[in-house]
Amino acid sequence: MGRPHVMVIPYPAQGHILPLMSFSRYLAKQGIQITFVNIEFNHNRIINSISKSSHGDYVPNRIKLVSIHDGLEDSPEERNIPGKLSESVLRFMPTKVEELIKNMISETSGGTIISCVVADQSLGWAIEIAAKFGIRRAAFCPAAAASMVLGFSIQKLVDDGLIDCDGTPRVNKTIQLSPGMPDMETDKFVWVCLKNKDSQRNIFQLMLQNNKSIESTDWLLCNSVYELETAAFGIGGPNILPIGPIVLAHHSLEEESTSLGSFLPQDRDCLDWLDRHIPGSVIYVAFGSFGFMGKAQLEELTIGLELTKRPVLWVTSTGEQPPIKVGSDRIRVVRWAPQREVLSYLAIGCFVSHCGWNSTLEGAENGIPFLCIPYFADQFINKAYICDVWKIGLGFDLDERGEFTRLEVKKKIDEVMRVDGECKKRAIKVKEIVIKSASKDGTSYENLDKFVNWIKSLVN
Ligand code: UDP
Repeated sequence: MGRPHVMVIPYPAQGHILPLMSFSRYLAKQGIQITFVNIEFNHNRIINSISKSSHGDYVPNRIKLVSIHDGLEDSPEERNIPGKLSESVLRFMPTKVEELIKNMISETSGGTIISCVVADQSLGWAIEIAAKFGIRRAAFCPAAAASMVLGFSIQKLVDDGLIDCDGTPRVNKTIQLSPGMPDMETDKFVWVCLKNKDSQRNIFQLMLQNNKSIESTDWLLCNSVYELETAAFGIGGPNILPIGPIVLAHHSLEEESTSLGSFLPQDRDCLDWLDRHIPGSVIYVAFGSFGFMGKAQLEELTIGLELTKRPVLWVTSTGEQPPIKVGSDRIRVVRWAPQREVLSYLAIGCFVSHCGWNSTLEGAENGIPFLCIPYFADQFINKAYICDVWKIGLGFDLDERGEFTRLEVKKKIDEVMRVDGECKKRAIKVKEIVIKSASKDGTSYENLDKFVNWIKSLVN
């Protein structure tokens, strides 16, 4: 009997690659062979980051990292042009993935049997390609079930007159898809990008196409926790299987410190720095893999943080420095932190976050209260979960220009970091829910087990 072989295809962005890599590592641990497909640009960044890693990062035996070309130049300038990446994902990636599968299964190159393709939920075309080759398939959603369900509701939103056929809101309104779900503002729907209509149209069309493509998947996995999103899973139906947080599935001390899949090497010295601080005292500031804050807001945030007189650990993934007074030992700036480990340190008192879904889960899993500065896409939904549904964090009150001030920063930080405050109490409850779901007999654990058994059954 052979080993099952799974091809994993993430959307080419950091926040998608990391959870799919965690998923792959879990499957590899169960004896499943993995081919992990990245576009060349990201593949090279990952390999480069492994080679610079000081703590023995490694690629597990059963995971093979492969790359395909995405039709773009390597220059970051070209890659940063809005819409370029999503266009290449639609135009170039499908042909390359098809070639790769054809090559792998052809007799001349060993005739590998691919038991299943696990594709990012946003890559519906990958599901269609797998179907064409008669390969079983699963879609993996690295976002909240609420975001996915919003995508499934597009036709209804058009019918209800809330958006037009390009996804542009017809009215500015706050809606709730079902009781218990987070509020959503029509002008902040995941695809809405009023400054770049072409980009919005591409994303919107892609979502519509995906809805169709994933109808043919054997599984629709979601990196979320049933108990945290009961209402969304309720309207999504039983076909959506919550298995998150997937990082908890391959949890072990040795693996905790590997950053396989990161584009940048981790700065691990900040862990020693954290060790020197008392519990609940440090503010952790990180906005995921895209930097986004304008100069003026960055300054307000920096000064607001300085006003709190608390220690700060600040990630600047783009390398852009916050305007901190030189010599201030209270503020530690790093390019890329071992975020999950950082959040597990007792010293951390709050997480100033853009509310990317991975960051949201990582804060929740560690019982850390949030201060939310969402910027785009699904971050507004995640913020609504944090502030209104789970009540483990706060947002900023914005002034008439839509901006926050330094005094607002100080006020909210002081409020959220109160040890006996409501946010902290709730955050500890939410942590328990998350850990329970991912532990033996928990919902996520059981669902993952079901999926692994199915994969294993494919070789019988
Ligand atoms: N991350 C990290 N080190 C950092 C900053 C972020 O390892 O210094 C990881 C973080 O743990 C998370 C991912 O990068 O898993 C970011 O994903 P998220 O969905 O939060 O944001 P995105 O980058 O997609 O906007």
